[in-house]
Amino acid sequence: MKLNEKQLSDIDAQVKRLIKTDSYYGKMYRELGITKVENEDDFRKIPFSSKADLRNAYPLGIQAVPDEEVVRIHSSSGTTGKPVIIPYTKKDVSDWAKMFARCYEIAGITNKDRIQITPGYGLWTAGIGFQAGCEYLGAMAIPMGPGNTDKQIQMMMDLKATVITATSSYALLLSEEINKRNLTDKISLKKGVIGSERWSDKMRQTIHDGLGIELYDIYGLTEIYGPGIGISCKEESGIHYFDDYVYIEIIDPATGENVPDGEEGEIVITTLVKEGAPLLRFRTHDMSRIIPGDCKCGNKYPRIDIIKGRSDDMFKIHGVNMFPSQIEELLLHIDGATSEYRVTLAHEDDKNKDVMLLTVEAEGRVHFEDVAKQMTALMKSRIGVTPRVTVVPVGTLPRSEKKTKRVIDYRE
Ligand code: ZN
Repeated sequence: MKLNEKQLSDIDAQVKRLIKTDSYYGKMYRELGITKVENEDDFRKIPFSSKADLRNAYPLGIQAVPDEEVVRIHSSSGTTGKPVIIPYTKKDVSDWAKMFARCYEIAGITNKDRIQITPGYGLWTAGIGFQAGCEYLGAMAIPMGPGNTDKQIQMMMDLKATVITATSSYALLLSEEINKRNLTDKISLKKGVIGSERWSDKMRQTIHDGLGIELYDIYGLTEIYGPGIGISCKEESGIHYFDDYVYIEIIDPATGENVPDGEEGEIVITTLVKEGAPLLRFRTHDMSRIIPGDCKCGNKYPRIDIIKGRSDDMFKIHGVNMFPSQIEELLLHIDGATSEYRVTLAHEDDKNKDVMLLTVEAEGRVHFEDVAKQMTALMKSRIGVTPRVTVVPVGTLPRSEKKTKRVIDYRE
């Protein structure tokens, strides 16, 4: 998607401001001789930015405003190495809340709603983002934070919460618990706003059926405000994102070249008006595509597709490149299987061969052996990989409140 005039002038202003600072990117762009962005060519000359840059700049190297303008920091949970710290100005915090309120509005949520917020509060951007957007909209926030499922369900019933916000795995857990306790007719939920990880159609269906609610995918990442820079609409045909705050390009992760609209690749985001920590051409590693054309819902904000997975989640087994989402898609075809799975990759030294162990869940009404056989056959015919499949009862695999790690690789 081409940069429009407003986006170009926003980026030009950001570059001109950045190079006057001694921030990490200010220094980098000065050294590279980047002084202005007047057209697409100027823009493409800006190097990609990455999480590695942000780690190098730890703790506050990317801060691009004086200390007195910073009102808050957030940090993304690094599984390896140093975390990443993002400073926010008053305007950044309020812009984020405005975008988040737009997300709620696109989901048809109004100031009459009561929004139960289960993502965590603290250093990461989840809980506080859902809360700030809710308050900006004027709805009632029920700031639960994660965990304590008994209390969650009690508050949900007593306060008649109409909207649940959660990670997909926690929404699944709540849905299973509410059904197990036969409480479905005691809850008033109508909508769920689900963020922070990829989820399969099967998981969506289970939560939708289990709670009887409409579901919306919210998109965002700590480095770029947090969740709330885009959301799916009633048409369920992609995620509208706010192109007055962020510019999105899709690149081939291997070559870094832009791909044509409609083609799949990695999402690269440029903030247009961020003050505390502006980021130009930030590689998200999220895989998606621009959806060309207007949405049937009538909303004019452009769209990306639902996130397909992460370019760095891809793993190689028996010479085949695989995404975890491929396993999720196959599980849809198996009667009695849930959406949950775990992959373990290991090396068998005596045979000098890699093995893939796949654990899936199935309901008690089906034969576990049949499920294992069907899954093995599907993997072999559709992907060309033969895993060793173990089938366990529903609820055996852990549901987490944060992002769930489904692939463990012991091969290094
Ligand atoms: Zn739409």
